Amino acid sequence: MKAVYYEEHGGPEVLQLGELPDPVAGPGGVLIDVKASSLNHLDLWVRRGLPGIKLPLPHIPGADAAGIVAAIGDGVTEVAVGDRVLVNPTLSCGRCEFCLQGDASLCRSFKIIGEQTQGTCCEKIVVPEQNAVTIPKDLPFVEAASIPLVFLTAWRMMITRGRLRPAETVLILGAAAGVGIACIQIAKVAGARVLAAAGSDDKLALCRELGADVLINYTREDLPKRVREETAKRGVDMCVDYIGKDTWVQSLICTAKGGRVVTCGATTGYDPKTDLRHIFFRQLEIIGSTMGSKNDLITPLGLILDGKMRPVVGEVFPLEQTADAHRLMESRTLSGKIVIRVADSE
Ligand SMILES: [Zn+2]
Repeated sequence: MKAVYYEEHGGPEVLQLGELPDPVAGPGGVLIDVKASSLNHLDLWVRRGLPGIKLPLPHIPGADAAGIVAAIGDGVTEVAVGDRVLVNPTLSCGRCEFCLQGDASLCRSFKIIGEQTQGTCCEKIVVPEQNAVTIPKDLPFVEAASIPLVFLTAWRMMITRGRLRPAETVLILGAAAGVGIACIQIAKVAGARVLAAAGSDDKLALCRELGADVLINYTREDLPKRVREETAKRGVDMCVDYIGKDTWVQSLICTAKGGRVVTCGATTGYDPKTDLRHIFFRQLEIIGSTMGSKNDLITPLGLILDGKMRPVVGEVFPLEQTADAHRLMESRTLSGKIVIRVADSE
């Protein structure tokens, strides 16, 4: 099969296109002809090399995918050859105490497709049966591939872990990026008021289209000052910060007494300075979240299929130009998701 892979860690230039052996569906496995794959910041971290994690090389990047079931292994009953599916990128054992509680992302042997295993940026992948989620004909593969990681991550962070309630006010930083576009829509579906912050007016225009109530350009405006003005000096009930180092201190300041700061990543760095007084005096809750359970994916997918939310594809690249796609992601200039079209299809 054709695949994008790297034989050493580094910048986008280490990505190469070549032939690798086709994977084979073993018992409980599903072989998928990949039609589209999408990029996440995770792919950049893994490509650069994660401290303490030694991956077998060559490594195929990519956590998200959508395609058609081409073969099934022994014992597979939930999907059939020819089904259109998207891939849930969270791998869990299904047997540990956390899996049995339905908390797959706390699994003791938790993995992400494309991080600890070979990824989706190729023509064929094998995933466990429970990771293949059937989708209807009218959802194009390019859109389907853009959904799983960001929507399940945003849903778990804001709803399952963050307990967002109607009439609450949410500040979303990096609101036009992949997770951000999911966060805005989920907050609106939940009945919250959304303050969206992003670094350009183009990005904020997309936030407005997705339902954001207040737009803040943080390259021009003083974020905490504007948040105070918009919340009658109170601060927001929930602040969503996956930017990390550049914004963390401001996020604490923007959050109301007793409010929650939720985080699922750190795109600008993971070691910000924290003034603990902001946390204890003002009784903030800091809530970490990563990936999600199958339910954290199925619920937002249902809302998308009902037309209450939508995937946002910013740009589509052919498989041959995956390195350019990584460069665009690193530039942080694009709104919405970057999708790799692996094979022609609807
Ligand atoms: Zn488990």
